[in-house]
Amino acid sequence: MFNSHRVSFHRAQWVGRSGWAAGIRCLLLLYLCALGTQALAVKPVVVAGDENGETIESNLELWHDLQGHKTLDDALTAFAAGEFSPLTTSNKSLGLKPGAFWGHLYLTNPAAQSRTLYLEYVDHQLANLQAYQRSPLSSEGLIGSPGSMAKIAEFDINGSFSDRAVSHHRFVFAVTLEPGQTTELLVRYGTGDRGFIYPSLRVWSAENLRMAQTAEVGLLAFLMGGIVIMAMVSLTVGLATGEALFFAYCLYALSKIAMWWTMAGFTHQFIIPEHFHWRYISFSGALVITTGIWFARLFLKTRTCIPRFDRLLLLMLWCACLLVLAAWAEQKAVAVILITVLLLMYPLVSIAGLMRWYQGAREAAVFALAWAFLVAGLLSQALRDLGYVEHTLSNYYWPAVGSYTEMVVILFAMGVNLYKLRDQKNAAELRYLTQLEHKKSELETLVKERTRDLEAAKSLAEVEASTDPLTGANNRRSFFRLGTQLLHRSQRHASAFSLLMFDIDHFKAINDNFGHSVGDDALRLFARTLMAEIRDIDIFGRLGGEEFALLFSGTDDASLKTAERLRETVSKLSIPVGGEEITFTASVGVAHFGKEATLEELFYKADAALYEAKQEGRNRVKSADDI
Ligand code: GH3
Ligand code: MG
Ligand code: MG
Repeated sequence: MFNSHRVSFHRAQWVGRSGWAAGIRCLLLLYLCALGTQALAVKPVVVAGDENGETIESNLELWHDLQGHKTLDDALTAFAAGEFSPLTTSNKSLGLKPGAFWGHLYLTNPAAQSRTLYLEYVDHQLANLQAYQRSPLSSEGLIGSPGSMAKIAEFDINGSFSDRAVSHHRFVFAVTLEPGQTTELLVRYGTGDRGFIYPSLRVWSAENLRMAQTAEVGLLAFLMGGIVIMAMVSLTVGLATGEALFFAYCLYALSKIAMWWTMAGFTHQFIIPEHFHWRYISFSGALVITTGIWFARLFLKTRTCIPRFDRLLLLMLWCACLLVLAAWAEQKAVAVILITVLLLMYPLVSIAGLMRWYQGAREAAVFALAWAFLVAGLLSQALRDLGYVEHTLSNYYWPAVGSYTEMVVILFAMGVNLYKLRDQKNAAELRYLTQLEHKKSELETLVKERTRDLEAAKSLAEVEASTDPLTGANNRRSFFRLGTQLLHRSQRHASAFSLLMFDIDHFKAINDNFGHSVGDDALRLFARTLMAEIRDIDIFGRLGGEEFALLFSGTDDASLKTAERLRETVSKLSIPVGGEEITFTASVGVAHFGKEATLEELFYKADAALYEAKQEGRNRVKSADDI
């Protein structure tokens, strides 16, 4: 698409083929001799008609107007005085220079038909440019014919785009040469204040210029279109996840588009054709630096992970703010210096990425690499602007391509990160759920155990509350409760039961003779024996002291027989004490349930029967019916 070969002077072309061309040549040489030795060092640019972006270098002479106030006449005087010097560098910037430069060159058209060629200023940063052509053109094709110089083009970065004769995002002007004519051009490169100047102009035929412009617009549209898509993807993810990082990326991407579009001249061409100002380039640059640093700080978590280094990134943000102020105040030199300083600080972000990688953040390595590619492009731009490297289309577009690559790689890293985060989140959720399940079952087991313990404690407490601690028989309260229930049941079902009251005979004597503990042994033995002898349905209890009672469910007769059997069993019991066996007996009073309304009534009767048994000599059964 572009051919970087420089225009060189070909003797064969220069000599021409016809006789009149030879005549022109002789006259030209005479003229050059008149101009002095300096002018002889510069050869005219020979117009071939198929120019394809070759740069004018050796054909150009330059003069520096330090203040930038010199007029066309001043420049012509300076030229006549030999103050112009040939351009010795190839297609390079002159560096950051004040004022303006004037370029002088000759163009010659050896062909038999008129030709129009286009001269293009190669960069986008020039404040203004004027071109003058010797007019009227010499009909004999003499160089430097006595006609005055006429302005053929004027550009101002702040001017109206519609004033441009050639609609191109950079400064491009047309020069027409009649058949066999040679003409002289003066080009003024104005910095406005101070700026970078690329004096080498590119030369185009109309067709090649159109094709190159289409290709360039296509390339930029491709890059910007890709970035727009990435910005939209990031915005969608941001809206879905609520992560600030994705919004930062989206803004960063959009500001990049704004910047490249503005830098390349398309904003002036298509968006703000009438009131464009060079400050917009600085503003867009400051915007992209601000959003880029904001995004980088979020992505790399520099504020929390490398807080001291983060201050350098903050410094960059402050520089970007200063850049906005300088541009606002139209301090072009300050703005240019700040942009250059910021470009030189760009590697800091890559270093931050490497530091984070060193700390273990793997995505930071990808970030550092992507940013480094961009930095390399920006550095080459800085070096190019300062005049250390040549201006080529590849290094002119390297920052844009680097930017694009950076966006692709970082978006990819963000995607991978998001995927990883989602996996981590799912795993954490699963872990949490498993833990929750585990805790739940642990809790359930604990609750079960506690409930069991409580139930056991409760039933133990119940047993203790209802049991006589010495003998294990029902205590008085429990006995009365169970007895009352039995009474009510018997009242409802008219079933028979009897109350048997036991009182150990002369128990006091056991205590007195053998001690209280032997008395206790006797009480335990008595209760144990009776509990073993009776059925489950019978209710046995200790009423107090050596008095016990039994509620026997069954007929009156059976109850008497049981009373007798139990009395007899007791009388055969013995306790070994000090080598001898102690025996004891019990008296029994029996009362059969009849029409009693309460248990107390039945007790009263049984007690009376027991009293009778005692009275009649003890160790016997007495029925209440018999008294
Ligand atoms: P009787 O044949 O008339 O029933 O004469 P007794 O000695 O059995 O009757 P008394 O009411 O005079 O004596 C009961 C004794 O029982 C008095 C008391 O010291 C004793 N005693 C009461 N409770 C306990 C106890 O838990 N352990 C012991 N070792 N003795 C008790
Ligand atoms: Mg008693
Ligand atoms: Mg007694």
